[in-house]
Amino acid sequence: MEIKIAGAGIAGLSAAITLKRLRKDFDISIRDKANSIKDKTPRGVNALRNYAENIDIQKKYLELGFELQNFHPIKRQIFLLSNRKYFDIESTEKPIFYTTIRGIKSSIDDMLLQQAIDLKINIQWNSTFKKEETDIFATGAELYSHCVGFGQHFTDVEQTDTIYVLQNSKYCPYGYMCILPYSNNEATIVLGKFNLDHKSQIKSDYNRALQEIPQFQEYIKGASVKYEVNGVGNYGLPSPTINGSSLLIGERAGLLEAFRGYGVHNAILSGYAAGIALVNGSDYSTLQNEMLFQSVERGLLRRIAENELNLSSERILTELFDRIPNNVSWEIFRSELNLLEKELLGKIDLPILMNSMDEWNRKYPFSIE
Ligand SMILES: Cc1cc2nc3c(=O)[nH]c(=O)nc-3n(C[C@H](O)[C@H](O)[C@H](O)COP(=O)(O)OP(=O)(O)OC[C@H]3O[C@@H](n4cnc5c(N)ncnc54)[C@H](O)[C@@H]3O)c2cc1C
Repeated sequence: MEIKIAGAGIAGLSAAITLKRLRKDFDISIRDKANSIKDKTPRGVNALRNYAENIDIQKKYLELGFELQNFHPIKRQIFLLSNRKYFDIESTEKPIFYTTIRGIKSSIDDMLLQQAIDLKINIQWNSTFKKEETDIFATGAELYSHCVGFGQHFTDVEQTDTIYVLQNSKYCPYGYMCILPYSNNEATIVLGKFNLDHKSQIKSDYNRALQEIPQFQEYIKGASVKYEVNGVGNYGLPSPTINGSSLLIGERAGLLEAFRGYGVHNAILSGYAAGIALVNGSDYSTLQNEMLFQSVERGLLRRIAENELNLSSERILTELFDRIPNNVSWEIFRSELNLLEKELLGKIDLPILMNSMDEWNRKYPFSIE
């Protein structure tokens, strides 16, 4: 059987690897319109939520058949709120996050590409398939973006064990800014906005926050800017197929987690689900739902509550600040935050929330080719 995949990003490579690992006789081809990994993804640090899974995600990826290494564990997180309020929380158990490098040189992109090459998957850069002959679309967010990110990648930072999150509507309304450190004294600072009405100011808001927030100033003292990072994201209620036949995976399916913008994990899992569906002849939509729906739905609900119903993350964290000490363990912080979110979301009339979700889907019919 011949399978054609458009897009050699995380999702496309994950699908190809799954297919070829399980069916050596399948003829798998990927085409990507970019010239190379370097051309399409700038070097930068991404965070993966380890806390959101029951098992350690490194272990999970290995179990699913992906040879991924070089994850950097993070156990401490600092939330910076307005009026000098902050949370400084640390996990007493497993790492809260792993950070990973994107782009070239020991990156997650490189590792998946190498595994695909070793499996003799045919990869062509600077080319694409005709739409009608494509079996799997893994072409990312470009066509249907709903959010935007801008930041810088630094070398020579001193501290690499803590993720900082700035949750302050003066600088990042409908989004947040964060420091994502990696080993080798590298870190990426990035501002994400999940409302495109605010897209134009992103660079100036980023620079203003970098200059005005003392913790950011302190963090980049002595560090050097190496690259700019930027891009767009596609989130929504995920769309598994076009016309019931070609499969959509990763951000092409709208699988960016809508609240914080985590897309790598969903790209890997949806690629895996598409591969399994084609190998077993099972239904991809069902598999995608089983593996991803809960977390995608929760993210979208929180995003709609923030964007459309004024229930911002800053507001929730500020309320939490009045309820619990600011240096509790990560586990207590998380469980109190969940309770408070539930309470505040519960105050929003459910039909209003669901209407907003329907309205959202009418406004953004991103699955139409
Ligand atoms: C600034 C920024 C920061 C981010 N930070 C994080 C983070 O910390 N954690 C996290 O989990 N996620 C993060 N994300 C999201 C994450 O990068 C994406 O969700 C993930 O890369 C999606 O993978 P994908 O394979 O679906 O798409 P992509 O990685 O976008 O890959 C799509 C590929 O398709 C190719 N392509 C496009 N059109 C065509 C075509 N017509 N034919 C052939 N090829 C085509 C492109 O060249 C590209 O190689 C961030 C995104 C941005 C922009």
